[in-house]
Amino acid sequence: MKQYRVRILAAALVLVLLAALCPPHAAEAAAFKDVPADAWFAKAVDWAIDREITCGLTAETFGPGRYCTRAQIVTFLYRLDGQHPAAKPADFSDVPARAWYAAAVGWAESAGIVSGVGKGRFAPNYACTRGQVAAMLWRYAGQPQTGGTNPFRDVRPTDYHYQAVLWAVQNGITAGTDAVHFSPNQPCTRAQIVTFLYRMNGGRIDEPIDDPVDESTEPEQPEPGPLVVIDPGHQLHANPAKEPNGPGSSVMKAKVSGGTYGPASGVHEYQLNLTVSLMLRTELERRGYRVVMTRTTHDVDLSNVERAKIGNSVHADAVIRIHANGSNDASVHGAYTINMTKNNPWNGNLYTKSRALSEAVLNAFCARTGARKRSIWDTDTMTGINWSTVPVTILEMGYMSNRAEDLAMATAAYQQKMVLGIADGIDDYFGR
Ligand SMILES: [Zn+2]
Repeated sequence: MKQYRVRILAAALVLVLLAALCPPHAAEAAAFKDVPADAWFAKAVDWAIDREITCGLTAETFGPGRYCTRAQIVTFLYRLDGQHPAAKPADFSDVPARAWYAAAVGWAESAGIVSGVGKGRFAPNYACTRGQVAAMLWRYAGQPQTGGTNPFRDVRPTDYHYQAVLWAVQNGITAGTDAVHFSPNQPCTRAQIVTFLYRMNGGRIDEPIDDPVDESTEPEQPEPGPLVVIDPGHQLHANPAKEPNGPGSSVMKAKVSGGTYGPASGVHEYQLNLTVSLMLRTELERRGYRVVMTRTTHDVDLSNVERAKIGNSVHADAVIRIHANGSNDASVHGAYTINMTKNNPWNGNLYTKSRALSEAVLNAFCARTGARKRSIWDTDTMTGINWSTVPVTILEMGYMSNRAEDLAMATAAYQQKMVLGIADGIDDYFGR
């Protein structure tokens, strides 16, 4: 059973986020358009690239003014330290085992550098504050106790980062944001963090303050986009074994059914669902969302309960389950969405949000594709919905039993329209 779980996680949790994993484009600081040669942090970026501590956000951008996330800072420290395996895996509910930062968080937790933000969470995508960064660097250095005077009005002896800031000042790692302020609650920028690491390792940057940012340029938005889980319905082989259709329910349903088939196109529903879902992932990421897929291949064994639990475990802001339909009546065509009823005994509290998601997705989908808009179905018969603890909708994109719709859905052009429609609907739902 346990092995099974691990396999599910390994197969299913593909967290796609910016940064961290060095892409094949061997990055060079000189190639970053946003790191001018005379920038105060240019030497630090050069050093960090050279040491393979970071590789920039893309081949051409380093993102110096962007805020450093907690996942990024532990990854930088982990790489600086030589990427030693952790004594044990990260133990936070929001750090999936397959996340790009999971090994780094596990290492940092084992080494006593981080302990999370409470309630068993690590908050990997939150911007790291300057106070938090100082504390992490200080713990990494072995928590040396230092005396000396505190130059900062906004750092007090009772602060958890007090010793850390004193140590950082005395070792020339930080100079504050001006002569009397450290600004511990300000998010740490990527330019600042590489500067701290560079100075901690003997590098010299003779700037009087950490980040003489041009006041006229606001740092880019630090907030990562909403997290969307995409569940491409069905899989290569159905699993007829039963599972309860809701937590504690006595109604048992097949773990995952076979799905439908398009006789005109020769396409199976599980194939169409994944094709559209992978395109949707690309489109949503392009629009700034974070995306988790429940599956990226056909040969998986993931029940509807397990699929729902993936959305729950990553605290998805929305889950979209991609399906197509079949009918004995070949003339039936069109799209609709499905959500729970108001009175659903397990998650009726999610009705308003889920219904809004269903409406937004269906409206935008039909606007882009021209598909017939059928009515939204409120039902408590769907296992994958009943087990969800986050807003969820099922999209039935069209009928594979209808020749015209089946053939259209098999074309790249119509698939692109469907994807843009779904993405527009998700934008509408989040008000983006
Ligand atoms: Zn289906």
